Parts: sequence; structure tokens; C-alpha cells
Amino acid sequence: MPSTLLHLGPGLAIGLFFKKKVNLVAILLSSILIDIELAHSLLITGEMIHGALHTLIGATALGLIIAIPVYIFRDHLGGINDLVGLDRDYSLKAIVTGSLLGAWIHVLLDGLFYERGLPIWINMGSIVPWTVNPSILNGICILGFIAGGYIYFKRIQSGKEDRE
Ligand SMILES: [Zn+2]
Repeated sequence: MPSTLLHLGPGLAIGLFFKKKVNLVAILLSSILIDIELAHSLLITGEMIHGALHTLIGATALGLIIAIPVYIFRDHLGGINDLVGLDRDYSLKAIVTGSLLGAWIHVLLDGLFYERGLPIWINMGSIVPWTVNPSILNGICILGFIAGGYIYFKRIQSGKEDRE
């Protein structure tokens, strides 16, 4: 993906749609934190390198690591939910599901974008052999933002109606 922030789109839609099963903060964080690898390689080598974190194994490991602080700080993070008018679901299962999904979707979208598919590990085979037109991938991310925004405003609206 050309832009890390575009990765927030699918996470937003999935996190808001499956609000009882997927922790929104965890999926959003892991959707973008995978690109720490690109920032790091850019600083060190001047090039953006998709390495270990942009593989299924690396993304799984980072996803699990991201779940730890989200779980530890769940009470504080829940305050964000209150602030934006969303229900809290900070069960360990929802957090781990969110952080793994965010990481996996990121690696899949990047892999399809850069014609790597979904690599299992560096220089290992890919379990998704296809490539997808980059504009379709960008479109999916933008659609994620639109769907997420729609679900969010519907929920806020119905929350208001419940209180009235
Ligand atoms: Zn990436």
C-alpha cells in the first residue's frame, strides 16, 4: 500500500461491524503498526523493505505483541470508546482477534499490492498466489472508511434514540 493510513479503512469497518467479537482499538493499531518495519528500514537503509513483519508468521507475532498493551491498558483505552460513544469490548478474545486480524489484513493487502501474495516467512512460499490491481486495493480501503463511517454514525444515532 502506498499509504499506511489507508490500512485503517478495513480495520475500521470490521472493528465497528463485529463490535462484540473484534476490539476496535486493537485492530486499528495492528493495521498500521506493521509498517514500523518500513519506517525502520527507511531510516537505516534509505529503502522501504517489506521483511519479516510483512509475512504471516511475523504479522502473527506482532499482532500478539500488540494485544498485550491493549489488554493491560483496557480500562484507559475504554475511555476512548466512551468519548466517541462506542460500546466497550475489551475481552482478551476480542483484543487478540482484533490485533491478529489487523496484522493479517495489512500483510495480505500489502502482499497483493506488491505481488508477493501472502508470504509465510521471508523467502518462503506464499499461501495467496494472486495479485490484485492496486486501484482495487485502494478502493477496498476507502470503502472500509466509508462503511466504517456509516456504521459509526448509525450507531451513534441509535444510541441517541435509546437514550431519548
Ligand atoms: Zn505495510
